[in-house]
Amino acid sequence: MNQVELAGRCLTLERYPVSQDANLQAWDATDEYLMQELAPWLSDASTAPVLIFNDGFGALSCALHTCNPVSISDSFLSQEATRRNLLANGLTVESVTLLGSLDPLPAVPALAVIKIPKTLALLEQQLLALRQVVTPQTRILAGGKTREIHNSTLALFEQILGPTKTSLAWKKSRLIHTQVVERPALANPYPTIWELDDSGYRIHNHANVFSRGSLDIGARLFMAHLPSGLEGTIADLGCGNGVIGLSALMNNPNAQLLFIDESHMAIASSRLNVETNRPTDLARCQFMLGNSLEQVATDSLQAVLCNPPFHQQQTITDQLAWQMFCDAERCLVSGGELWIVGNRHLGYHIKLQRLFGKVDCIASNQKFVILRATKS
Ligand code: SAM
Repeated sequence: MNQVELAGRCLTLERYPVSQDANLQAWDATDEYLMQELAPWLSDASTAPVLIFNDGFGALSCALHTCNPVSISDSFLSQEATRRNLLANGLTVESVTLLGSLDPLPAVPALAVIKIPKTLALLEQQLLALRQVVTPQTRILAGGKTREIHNSTLALFEQILGPTKTSLAWKKSRLIHTQVVERPALANPYPTIWELDDSGYRIHNHANVFSRGSLDIGARLFMAHLPSGLEGTIADLGCGNGVIGLSALMNNPNAQLLFIDESHMAIASSRLNVETNRPTDLARCQFMLGNSLEQVATDSLQAVLCNPPFHQQQTITDQLAWQMFCDAERCLVSGGELWIVGNRHLGYHIKLQRLFGKVDCIASNQKFVILRATKS
C-alpha cells in the first residue's frame, strides 16, 4: 500500500504525521505523472540546480535524489516527511537541501518542478521568487489535480514566467509546461497588510497564511474571550499570523508568549506582527517552527490557546486537532488550561471531555463554541 515506483526506483513512502487512515498515501498521481515526464530528462541532467516546490511528503525529492535537488516548502510537516522518507529508502538526508518558503533560491536552475499548492497566493509568491533566478534555459514543469488547475492558475504562469500550455489529463492530473521569456518586472504584493478593528494593529500576512485577507470569524469570537492576568508561559498553538497571541500579550502583561506553527510563513508573519505592533513585548516572545507541541517540555505551559487546523495540505482531517489536544494535556502544568475555538459541529467538547475530564463552555454563537479544558 505504501510502495510506488518512481523514475525506475521502488520507494516506500509514509505520510507524516503517520496517518491513521490507511487509504491516505504519501504520493499522488501527479507525482507519478511528473516523474514519467522527467524520466528522459534525468539521463542527461546537467549539474545546475534542480528545484522542487511543494513536495507533499518527499516523493519527488526521493525520486530526484541523484540530482541533489533543492526542495522548497512552507510546511515543516512536509519537510519532516521528506527527511524520514529519504532515510527509510536508504538515502542520505544531505542528498536534498530543504529550504523554507521565504529562503532565497539558488541562481540559474536547470529545472523547477512545481506541485500546485492549495493557495493561489503561495503559487504567485513562488513564481515571483522563481522569476528572479530563472533563465530562458530553465525547464519549468508543474503539475496538479485537474480540478486544482484553473484559468487563474495558468494565468499566473503566463504573466510571471512566459507562454504556458497544459498536457492531457492522466489519472485526473494535469501537467503545465512554461517557456521562460522576458516579462516586465512585477511587484511582489506579499506580505499583505490589514488593520485589526479598533486596536490599530497592522496585521502582516505572508502568502500562505490562514485567513490572509481578514480576521477569521472564529478567531474574532475567541479574541473577545481570551484569558487575562496569567503568569508563566502561554502557547499560541497554530498561530497563523499571530492575532491570538497578540491579544494574549495585551491581556497578560506578566506572561511569556510562545508562538508555534508548522508553516514558515506563519512564524515569519507572527514575528513581524509582534515587531510592528508590540515591539516592547518582543523580549517575552518566542517563535517556534514545529509539529504541534512536540518540541515543548512536559508540564511547562500555563495555558494553550488554539484555533485548530482542519486540513493537512488537501486532506480534511481532525487528526491534527486531536494531536494538539493530547500534546496540550502533556505540556500544561497541573491546573493549566487549554482554550480552543471550534466549529460547533466538530464535537471537540466530547474529545476534550475524554482527555481532560473538566471542560467548560466559555462562549458560543450560532457557528462557534469556545471551550476551556483544565488539567487536573
Ligand atoms: N491562530 C490563527 C488564527 O486564529 O487566525 C490560525 C489558525 S488556523 C485555523 C490553524 C493553524 O494551524 C494554521 O496556521 C496552520 O498552519 C497551523 N498548523 C497546522 N498543522 C499544524 C501542526 N501540526 N503544528 C503546528 N501548527 C499547525
